[in-house]
Amino acid sequence: MRKLIALLTGFVVIAVGANASDPPKGGAPTVETAVKPASSAHASAGSAHGASAASAASGPKLPYEATLPIPGGSARAKSSAKSEESEKAKDDKPRGLDVKKVDETEADLTAKIAQRLAILRANQAARAAAAEKARKAAAAKEAAAVAEKAKQPPPKIEHWTYEGETGPANWGKINTDWAKCSAGNRQSPIDIRDGMKVDLEQIVFDYRPTSFSVIDNGHTVQVTLAGGNYLTVGNRMYELLQFHFHRPSEERINGKGFEMVVHMVHRDAEGKLAVLAVLLERGNASPIIQTVWNNLPLEKNMEVSPAVLIDPTQFLPQRREYFTYMGSLTTPPCTEGVLWLVMKQPMSAAPAQMALFSRLYPLNARPIQPNAGRVIKESN
Ligand SMILES: [Zn+2]
Repeated sequence: MRKLIALLTGFVVIAVGANASDPPKGGAPTVETAVKPASSAHASAGSAHGASAASAASGPKLPYEATLPIPGGSARAKSSAKSEESEKAKDDKPRGLDVKKVDETEADLTAKIAQRLAILRANQAARAAAAEKARKAAAAKEAAAVAEKAKQPPPKIEHWTYEGETGPANWGKINTDWAKCSAGNRQSPIDIRDGMKVDLEQIVFDYRPTSFSVIDNGHTVQVTLAGGNYLTVGNRMYELLQFHFHRPSEERINGKGFEMVVHMVHRDAEGKLAVLAVLLERGNASPIIQTVWNNLPLEKNMEVSPAVLIDPTQFLPQRREYFTYMGSLTTPPCTEGVLWLVMKQPMSAAPAQMALFSRLYPLNARPIQPNAGRVIKESN
């Protein structure tokens, strides 16, 4: 009889497993707590089956059962004893004729099938929940990665030009350090007009022949000076660091541009900048420009340090009247807070000297920037 039960059980379970959408893998079920008691199946089998009730007690435990103390030993121990008794009694009877026993077996099988189905469903639900959890975790991870990427600043481009994609209109966009180039409201150059004519103090120059180096930095020809050249204005003393050229002139005077300009960049002890601009027009040759051109490097970014000295005084016009306003560097990063001093009287350079520069830089001037209500003062 036991063999028959085992055989039938196996057959039915296999049949159920084959029909289930999620067949059991391996042996032991993974979700025990989800198993429902087989009591309903037993109840439907009828109260006449006393042995069936005993069998129900030997079925799977309800979770709350574990918390209820049972006097006189565990329910499982009792029921297994009863089962043995009933089994023994059954064995005494003739085999194959016990209808009651067959009903009992059917009920048992029904219970086991229900139990196995419950386990399968529970496992399936657990797997679906795990898959959903994994999907949510992956989505969260992806969202975090996107947010992180959005937080990172765009790649910084150090290259800028006077035309095209990396030209003045885009300087502020291509590098976050250059934001002032587009967002600033104290930018240079400007069209100098409607200046307030006042008794501007004289700029005091203390320039002398100095050793220097020349570099073509890809934007202009620049001369870097050894120390010792000073300009004093507004009770501040600024030291001349370097001068460089633009073609055409960046600044305009009442709308008028000039062929070239030299910018002489000074800095005081606090790091504040003052740029002296001297406009250049066609005329006599400039001795200081000739000294620079004589020492032009053969390659870009190759520095030439000649043995001769250069005298920045040679850039200063005879008349020292000037315009002044607060502006910025005219190249990236377009730093503001720069004191501009624009000499009213232009200096001259020979057409050949200008032609030489234009072969290197036919255009290296930033467009005019909005005045934005700034005060411009000029010498009477
Ligand atoms: Zn400049």
